[in-house]
Amino acid sequence: MMRIITIATIWGFICIVNQVKSITNYKEGGENWTEGWCAVGKKQSPIDIPTSLGSFTVNSVRLVENQKLELILTDSVMSQVVVEDLITTYEVPFTDGFLALWDENDYLDTYKLVQFHVHAPSEHTFDGRHYDLEIHFVHKHQTRDRLAVLSVPFDVEKGGNQANDFISSLKIGEKNVQNVTIPTMNLVKKLNKNKIFHYDGSLTTPPCNETVEWIVVNDPQPISSAQVKVFNDRWMNNQTFANGHGNNRIVQSLNQRYIYMKQEVKSSLGISCFSISMTFILMGIFVMFY
Ligand SMILES: [Zn+2]
Repeated sequence: MMRIITIATIWGFICIVNQVKSITNYKEGGENWTEGWCAVGKKQSPIDIPTSLGSFTVNSVRLVENQKLELILTDSVMSQVVVEDLITTYEVPFTDGFLALWDENDYLDTYKLVQFHVHAPSEHTFDGRHYDLEIHFVHKHQTRDRLAVLSVPFDVEKGGNQANDFISSLKIGEKNVQNVTIPTMNLVKKLNKNKIFHYDGSLTTPPCNETVEWIVVNDPQPISSAQVKVFNDRWMNNQTFANGHGNNRIVQSLNQRYIYMKQEVKSSLGISCFSISMTFILMGIFVMFY
């Protein structure tokens, strides 16, 4: 009997150690990660994004304007979903949404939503500045081993310190929450999809696989300081989490990559002709999917 108890105790200890090991360690912002591609990759994420061709950063020479970039999202209302507390982030598994990207090489591809999760502060920086929060909507290619991650920033200062209904709907920090209904379309509709960046990058957590099409929306959404505080109290302002760091990997070198940028160009009707024609083409593709 004693032997069984001893084996069970050892096994339990090994399980706990493994569990602790598997939690992403943000104490050095990811600088000490050695798994997979984290330390050796040349196409790592996140990166700093120069927001205009006139931004005098070291990366600006590799910023390329391309009006053909087009993004279509079909995410709908997420009802009765569970917000999972993974300690290093809050994650919502959800599969009812599609993303289509028409890229700088005239290549059209579609991806299916699998989950979204939160980082505070933002992982990507914009002209060297962090926003308060960044949500990653992770979409998976249906046949290839590729992801398309839509990055949406939120910022108190840029957004005028207003409460955001998408963030409120997550009910983070509230007690006895079973499942929630998230008005995803409210957020999607507000995003300025004519102000986007696209680049080839990686997962921002180990093993940092370089399999991600990053689509970063340069349109910080409103959030209130009270809403940001809930996330910061959990991570950045919590000494026991990562010695004062948030759950963001620090920015990585761009190396030889280009960042493709679409800037808003509106006709007198307020919408570009290219956008209208692309919307019809992509709507046709989604009809075929369903
Ligand atoms: Zn992420």
